[in-house]
Amino acid sequence: MSVHAANAETISAAAQILRGGGLVAFPTETVYGLGGDATNGKAVAAIFAAKGRPTFNPLIVHVADVAWMSDLAVTDTRFENLAAAFWPGPLTLVLPRSAACKASELVSAGLASIAVRMPDHPVAQKLLRATDRPLAAPSANPSGRVSPTRAAHVAEGLGDKVNMIIDGGACRVGLESTVVDLTTARATLLRPGVITAEEIEAVIGTVGTGADDPSAPKSPGQLASHYAPSVPVRLEAQAAQPGEALLGFGMSMGATLNLSAKGDLLEAAANLFAMLRELDNAARFKAIAVAPIPHAGIGLAINDRLQRAAAAKG
Ligand code: AMP
Ligand code: MG
Repeated sequence: MSVHAANAETISAAAQILRGGGLVAFPTETVYGLGGDATNGKAVAAIFAAKGRPTFNPLIVHVADVAWMSDLAVTDTRFENLAAAFWPGPLTLVLPRSAACKASELVSAGLASIAVRMPDHPVAQKLLRATDRPLAAPSANPSGRVSPTRAAHVAEGLGDKVNMIIDGGACRVGLESTVVDLTTARATLLRPGVITAEEIEAVIGTVGTGADDPSAPKSPGQLASHYAPSVPVRLEAQAAQPGEALLGFGMSMGATLNLSAKGDLLEAAANLFAMLRELDNAARFKAIAVAPIPHAGIGLAINDRLQRAAAAKG
C-alpha cells in the first residue's frame, strides 16, 4: 500500500491499476471510496475480500458522465430530472439493470437493480475519466468500522489490502450519499443523506420512506439480500442427484458449471450470481446442488449467500 497525493501522474497510475483489475482508494465528496472496475467481477470480489464483509451487499457504481448510464441501467424521466438537479453530487439512484448492463452481477449482489452515482469531487471525476470504466466503490473501511474521510484513515484500516491510496484531502460532506430507489412507480428513500427527501420531492413528487408500505424494505440492510433461485438449492454436495444441476468448485467431477475450476475464491465470487441464475433458468434442472466452498476469507460471504438461497426454498 502506498499513499500518493492526487496529481495527473498519480491519477494516471491509479487508472492503470484499476483497468488491470486492482483496487484504488480515492476521495469523493462523501467519504473515501474503495474503488474497483465495476465491469470486472474479480475486481468487485476483491473489494468484498478487502473489506472483509461477511456477506455480499450491493455496491454503488460511480460514473463520470450521464452518458455512461446507457451501459448500465434503464433510465426514466424521474432519473433525468434528478440527475439534472443533483448530479454530480451525493445522490445515489437505484434503477433496473439494463439487458446489456456491463457491470458485474456481483455489484448488484444478484439483484435486478443497480445503484449509481456521479461524484462531484474533482479527483474522483478525473480518476473515472482516466479509467474510462464505471467504478464500484463502497466506503474504504474494513467491514463494521466507521467510514474514512481522510487518506490516513484508509491507510490505517485497509493497509496493504489496497494497491494504491490517492490522497485528496478531507472529504467535504463526510456522510454517505442519499439513496433513492427508482425501480418502483413510487420512489423510495432507502438512506437519508445531505440531499433531503424534501429536495427530492420538489423534483419528482412524493417519495416514500418504506415505513408506510409493508411490502417495501424498511432499510437498505433489509433490502440488501435477496436473490434466491426459484428451484431448491442443496449445499455441500459431492455429486448431482438425478434432475439436479451441479455447481462445482475446484476439482468437481461432472459439474454442470464450475465457480472456479482452479479453486480460486475471488473467481468463484465473481461467478456466483451469474451461474446460479444460468442454472436456475435452464429448464432441465429441478434443483441446484452446490459443491463445498471453503468457509474462509471471501468464502464466508459466498457461503452466506448460498445458505440464504438454500433456506429460501427449504
Ligand atoms: P455503501 O456503498 O457502503 O455506501 O452502501 C451502498 C448503499 O446503497 C447500501 O445502503 C445499499 O443497500 C444500497 N444499494 C446499493 N445497490 C443497491 C441496489 N441494487 N438496490 C438497493 N439498494 C442498493
Ligand atoms: Mg460503508
